[in-house]
Parts: sequence; structure tokens; C-alpha cells
Amino acid sequence: MINIAKFDNTYARLPERFHVKLPPTAVSDPRLIKLNEALAVKLGFDVAQLKSDDGIAILAGNELPEGSEPLAMAYAGQQFGNWVPQLGDGRAVLLGEVVSPKLGRRDIQLKGSGPTPFSRMGDGRAWLGPVMREYIVSEAMAALDIPTTRALAAVTTGEDIVREEILPGAILTRVAKSHLRVGTFQYFAARRDADGLKLLADYAIDRLYPDCKNSDHPYKNLLQSVVNAQAYLVARWMGVGFIHGVMNTDNVSIAGETIDYGPCAFMDDFHPDRVFSSIDQTGRYAFSNQPKIAHWNLVQFAQAILSLLGDTQEEAVAVAQSVIDSFPSLYHEAWLNVFRSKLGLVNMEGEDEVLVNGLLKAMTNDGADFTLTFRALSSENQRNIGQQFQNRTDIDPWLVEWKERLQREELDADERVKLMNAHNPAFIPRTHLIEQSIKDGLLGDFATMERLLQVFSKPFDDQPKNTDLMSAPSAGEQVRYTFCGT
Ligand code: AMP
Ligand code: MG
Repeated sequence: MINIAKFDNTYARLPERFHVKLPPTAVSDPRLIKLNEALAVKLGFDVAQLKSDDGIAILAGNELPEGSEPLAMAYAGQQFGNWVPQLGDGRAVLLGEVVSPKLGRRDIQLKGSGPTPFSRMGDGRAWLGPVMREYIVSEAMAALDIPTTRALAAVTTGEDIVREEILPGAILTRVAKSHLRVGTFQYFAARRDADGLKLLADYAIDRLYPDCKNSDHPYKNLLQSVVNAQAYLVARWMGVGFIHGVMNTDNVSIAGETIDYGPCAFMDDFHPDRVFSSIDQTGRYAFSNQPKIAHWNLVQFAQAILSLLGDTQEEAVAVAQSVIDSFPSLYHEAWLNVFRSKLGLVNMEGEDEVLVNGLLKAMTNDGADFTLTFRALSSENQRNIGQQFQNRTDIDPWLVEWKERLQREELDADERVKLMNAHNPAFIPRTHLIEQSIKDGLLGDFATMERLLQVFSKPFDDQPKNTDLMSAPSAGEQVRYTFCGT
């Protein structure tokens, strides 16, 4: 066995019913597409070792690193509102946990690593496209400073994957603060496994929210911590035009990280009701629904841990309700803060929300590009704003209002530009760019992916040589639908 890091596998030490221990399934011809060297270093791994044949064998699941205790986690969840009592890692294994001085404890998971007892009808595998997409988008998210799971590596397996066509198999090494989901709690609640539920809640507190331990009501605090983290996370998504696409309760991380990059997308032209996912026919996970759905998901979490929230049903419900009711205002405050910064506002004024909504309305009416509009507003004199609006009837009066509002700020023009540029990215992982990189990847050419990763790693910089990656897609390039990453 190869030693790549010191593993300390707390989840594997939880009782048997929490997981199924099994190794990944070996693949025929693993090749490294991409290693995230900066992240590897932060985790305390040796880059040269991970790039060697031994390292690649680990990233492909052909060898186990010393100290790893691979397992598939059990969980349940509501998918598009429908209760599924058992989901679980059907195509992933947790290799274990690594404790790094820089990042703290992190799960190291292989996704696409072969069938498990939770695979149901699936093959346990992933094809190259979704692996590339998750790698690119999750790393872009991290560079935008939005909480997210990370991508450590992507390998191809040398094996065919049968979907609607035959596609090359791939495996992503995912790094997370933890893979606990709302659905993990629902799994135990649904089985009326009170001991399991308490163990899980104590585990989550120890690992993610240790301050809760010192409070009079640790589980109420756990719920509040998860509510706070979701309110912040979704507000940040809204600030970059991100649509998650599958906010099922099994895809809601207790740690508050963005997890599960399936049919997700960053919006080009703005519309509040935009949906990309081809399977989201009712628009349940549309852009503007995300806060409502987050709230709903948190209700499911509260319900799952209800037995821990009070000695009587009545008391527990009252506690749960009081915490859950804090979500709308927490979210609203986080959202306003995000958009105040995007508009260069430091002071708070009562009419700020009206101002933000006025801009969003103008963008909607004209189909203006979300990212480029904010970036254009950031520049001195807003010199590019005209390119974003065909029709200026809404935006011109709005600009007058906004400039009046800026007069009442202490920031001078330079400071405002600086603040706004730090909150309005020039570069986001637009779907048409990702699709192009996948097309090239299918031909064995990963230079496009490499370039995207480079450019998206500095999203707030101007990067004059890369303006082609800043532009909105042309009508012919535009992608309107995304597909689940299976
Ligand atoms: P997701 O849509 O990725 O959140 O996955 C939902 C559930 O389906 C999880 O339990 C996954 O492990 C499982 N799943 C998705 N794709 C596959 C696959 N190809 N093989 C086995 N299980 C899968
Ligand atoms: Mg999932």
C-alpha cells in the first residue's frame, strides 16, 4: 500500500448501519487528465507522487492508499419533492479523511468508482463530460470564494460507459468538508433510529460546528448553524447567477458547501425564472425559486432532527419553527449584502432593495447578460453598459437613480471601482465554454479545459488576453438545456 497522507477516518468508525464498507472497482487503463496541484499541496499531498503511476492508480481506485477505509455512505432524500427512503453513494466511495494543517479535516471521495449496494439500476460510473464539468465549475466556484466541494483530480478509466451512446469513463476525486447531507439525517429519522440520529447529530457538531457543544441547546444550535450556512450560500449563488438545478435534500450539504454539480449552470442573459435542467419540467429549481427551496429543504432537516429538539413533541416543534422562521430574514439580509457590494454600496439605506430590483427588472426586460452587466457597472463611467442593453428605456433612468445613490456614499470613484470589481466577476464558467471543453476532451484534447481552469481561477481580474472567454455566447453557441450528470 502506498502512503500518500495520514488518514483518520472518523466516519468509518461510526456503526455499521451508517455505511457499507467496500473498495472502489478497479479500471483497465487509468490516465490522469488533471491534478489540482495547489489543492494537493494544501492537503499535504506530494504532487509528484500523485502524478506517478502509483498516485494515478489511487485516483482511479485501482490501489488503496495506506490508512484508507473505503466506504459508501447511506442516505435518503426527497428528489424533486418525492421521498426516496434509500439513496446512498451509488457511484462513489469515501476513501477516508485527511487532516491538513492548512484546511483542517477533509473527506477524500472518488466519484464514478464503480457499483455499490446503493447503485440500484445504475452502473456506478460517470462519463468524462460530467467529471470535467464538476471539476471546472466547482473550482470556478472556489475561486469566486463561494463555499463548495473541491476537485482534486480527474482521470479517465479506459472503459466504455453506456449511456444513450458509448462514452469514455472517468473518475473525479472530490474533496469536501464532509459529505453529510440533509438526506443523511432523513435516512435515520425515517428508520426511527433515534440512537443513530443522535450519533449522527453529535458527529456533525463535533466535525462541523463544534461551538454548538458549549451551548445549552446544541441541537437547536446545529439547526441554526445549518440554516445560517444555507442562507449565506444561496445568497451567494444568486449574486453570480448560479442555478444549482438539483436542490434535492440529498444534495444539500450540512457543511453549507455547494455539492453535486449535475445540470447546474451560470446564467448568461438574465431571467429570474430561468431553468436549465432538462428534467426540471415544472421549474421547481428555477433561479428565483432557490431561496424558497432552500427554506423547504431546511424544514425537512428540522423535521428529521425533531426528536432531538425537545422533550415533548410540542416543545420540539416550537424550537424547530422558531429556527426555521429565521431563514427568510437571514437570507434576505445576506442577499442584500451581496447586491449592495455588487452595486458599490457600503452604507445601508431603506430603498436599496428597490434599487437592486429595479436593475434586475431592467435586465429581465432586455435579456441583459447578468455577469457583463454588473462588470460594466463596475468600470469607471460604465463605458460598456450600452453593449448590454438593446433598449435603454429601463436602464437609463435606473442609472440616474443609482448615481444619485452613489453620491451619498463616502467611497470615491477609485474605491468604488475596486469594491465592485472584487464582487462582480468578469469570468464565470459559462455553459457553452464547458461544452466546448468537453467536446475537445472527448477527442483527447484537454488544452481547452486547462485554459478554462487557468482563466476561471482569477475571475475578478481583467485578463485582456482572454476576453473571448468573457463574452456571452452568440445565438448559435448558446446552450439552453443541461443534463443530469449520470
Ligand atoms: P445525483 O443525481 O448525482 O445526486 O444522484 C442521486 C442518486 O443516484 C445517488 O444515490 C447516486 O449515488 C445515484 N446514482 C447516480 N448516478 C448513478 C450511477 N451511474 N450508478 C449508480 N448510482 C447512481
Ligand atoms: Mg447527489
